[in-house]
Amino acid sequence: MSDESATASSPEPWPAPLPWQRDWLVRQLREGDRAHHALLITGPAGLGKKTLALHLAQALLCESPQADGLACGACAGCGYVAARTHPDLRILDLWKFEDDGWEPADTILIDRVRALVDMTQSSTFRDGRRVAVIAPAERMNAAAANALLKTLEEPPPGTRLLLASSHPGRLLPTVASRCVRVVAPRPSVAAASGWLAAQGVADPASALAEAGGMPLAALALAEEGGRAERSAWYDALSQPRRLVPAAMGARIDAGGKDERKTRLALALDAMSAWSSDLARAAAGLAPSRLPGRSAALAALAPRVATIALCRYHRAVLFQRAWVAHPLQPRLVAEALLAEYRTLFP
Ligand SMILES: [Zn+2]
Repeated sequence: MSDESATASSPEPWPAPLPWQRDWLVRQLREGDRAHHALLITGPAGLGKKTLALHLAQALLCESPQADGLACGACAGCGYVAARTHPDLRILDLWKFEDDGWEPADTILIDRVRALVDMTQSSTFRDGRRVAVIAPAERMNAAAANALLKTLEEPPPGTRLLLASSHPGRLLPTVASRCVRVVAPRPSVAAASGWLAAQGVADPASALAEAGGMPLAALALAEEGGRAERSAWYDALSQPRRLVPAAMGARIDAGGKDERKTRLALALDAMSAWSSDLARAAAGLAPSRLPGRSAALAALAPRVATIALCRYHRAVLFQRAWVAHPLQPRLVAEALLAEYRTLFP
């Protein structure tokens, strides 16, 4: 049983439910066994899709659900789920179990999918239901995704597969087409700000704005303590003529391999927020992500080549989406900064 639980588990604590997801969960659960066996939950990163999938899984495995279908949180099934040791639940995420414990992974490999398929083919331990959560689903490599196809097409009775992805276009089409696509609910600004304040975020409105309205991304921004670092990037971007790509690139190189990815992600997030607000400023609109930088943005806006800016913004987003596999984090940043400078002829 210890191997089984290791496969089902991960070192992350069980997430608290997100208040804006409650109604969505109740609606999903109302479908009961008529619901499609495979859901593909989509929506931007930082919205809480994995949390949504995990709580749907818990409700499906709860042994005495509440009247609205949500998990009771108190039964044995709920306890096993929250401890990530429920034998009828598999969670495939970016953690892998090695000899000396849990390690972060870039990819969901075929052995995890095989363990999932084995689970669906053995008899259930508890209620007759089995649930798998795969998040982020686009990180299954091709072999893993192919190994899932048969289960997606002809799942054994009682099997529910919950895939979550911010980039559903990167799933194998044969995987995506076998799922029903649903969009994760998005909180109002007031709901998201209230939730962030309850998590101890000092300035929820700015964190939320900077994270493009995505509450979990805003919490991560507030928690990662990168405020000074992001500020350095905004300062550099506000003075394109004085910007020295190699000097900013050196900031990425400070740190080990995993840290360089984190630093690049921060830089790309800063470039993305900046360029999207610069495009707004060029169109005469107030900034939506960086209201505190409106003066600098307005000063740059008349000089920027707007079509090239759109191209640059797309390039930033493209690199951000592949940040788990950057060839050379420092060079990625330097190339984008060199391109940024050309936007101001
Ligand atoms: Zn329960």
